[in-house]
Amino acid sequence: MQRVYHFLAVLFISVFVNAQVFNQAIADEIQKVDSVINLLINYENIGPKPTGSPALVETLEWIVENYKDYGYVPIIDTFKLGSIESYNIIIEKQGSIPNQWIIIGAHYDSVEESPGANDNGTGVISTLQIARIINDLNPRIGVRIINFGAEEQGFIGSSYYVRNTLPSTDSILLMLNLDQLGGTKGKDNRKIYCERDDDVNPLSNNLPSSLMTDTLAKIISLYTNLESIISDAYSSDYVPFEDDGLTITGLYQESDYSDHYHKSTDLVSNMDVEATIEVIKGALAATLYFSKMEGFLDVHELANNSYGLNPNPAKNYLTISNVSSNVFVELYDMQGNFIKAQEVCPNDQIELFDLSNGLYTVSISDKTKGYTIYTKLIIAK
Ligand SMILES: [Zn+2]
Repeated sequence: MQRVYHFLAVLFISVFVNAQVFNQAIADEIQKVDSVINLLINYENIGPKPTGSPALVETLEWIVENYKDYGYVPIIDTFKLGSIESYNIIIEKQGSIPNQWIIIGAHYDSVEESPGANDNGTGVISTLQIARIINDLNPRIGVRIINFGAEEQGFIGSSYYVRNTLPSTDSILLMLNLDQLGGTKGKDNRKIYCERDDDVNPLSNNLPSSLMTDTLAKIISLYTNLESIISDAYSSDYVPFEDDGLTITGLYQESDYSDHYHKSTDLVSNMDVEATIEVIKGALAATLYFSKMEGFLDVHELANNSYGLNPNPAKNYLTISNVSSNVFVELYDMQGNFIKAQEVCPNDQIELFDLSNGLYTVSISDKTKGYTIYTKLIIAK
């Protein structure tokens, strides 16, 4: 009888958890991402857009016009590479919490050999789609979208932005970078890299980046047909943010585009636009989640206001703070594998003797209050 009860309890929790983690409002909202093929072709048709070229300025004007059509007032952030002037394009959707922002970045320049449909037309049209859709919504955390110039010369625009333009009064919760989301025509494009900070200088922002990237990967798996793969952030506009101690993550298509990378064949016709659309939907879902968009995100709000893990990092015992009636606790490893489940009464301890050091996801389900929260536990013995 005991075993049967336990089996039923675990079954109940599993159904309950799945029901809570998937948010239908987010799934509905991301359907507003439209067929982006015309935007991609417009970007491609401008031709190669290297820093300092008339085509780069034409691309800037095209992006600015799109943002204006969606109701924004773009800001041009001008910088110099030697004697050459270039520009970042910034738009903002204010949040209800002052001075807190997430930044979504996608460079809009290309190398001179390439029209850059994938690198980085795909990132640019992602930011256009996100901007269009969120302008009708109400974020708690402000969303700042930046199309950086001179990425191809070594993140010159993003470096300038971090050093000179980013207001010191701003609190940046996350910088999400979008670069090369195209997929490759004829290849398997179901995998997307979710990129975390593994650079040790500084080390302090690696753990928050890992947590955010894990969350990003989970969002991608929940709301798209793509498979998330955790990978390391490398060589794009998140680098200056990372170097400044900020928390970064990023998306990058996994399939091998090297035949066309930085070549004249980086064209829409060599990409998998359907896969690109899935990535954009994932990036939009992440934007809704991380900006705590009104009406989309009650689970996340609860996570900040209710149960806590004590201590965290933990060694061999864990308690859940603020437990007033029994809750069900489940632990998963970073690959999402189920580790253990336990019903927890107030003041109960969860034993962790059999668990090794690392980062875990903990779900805490309160069936009387009807919700589940998700949080992260570090075990360090
Ligand atoms: Zn790029």
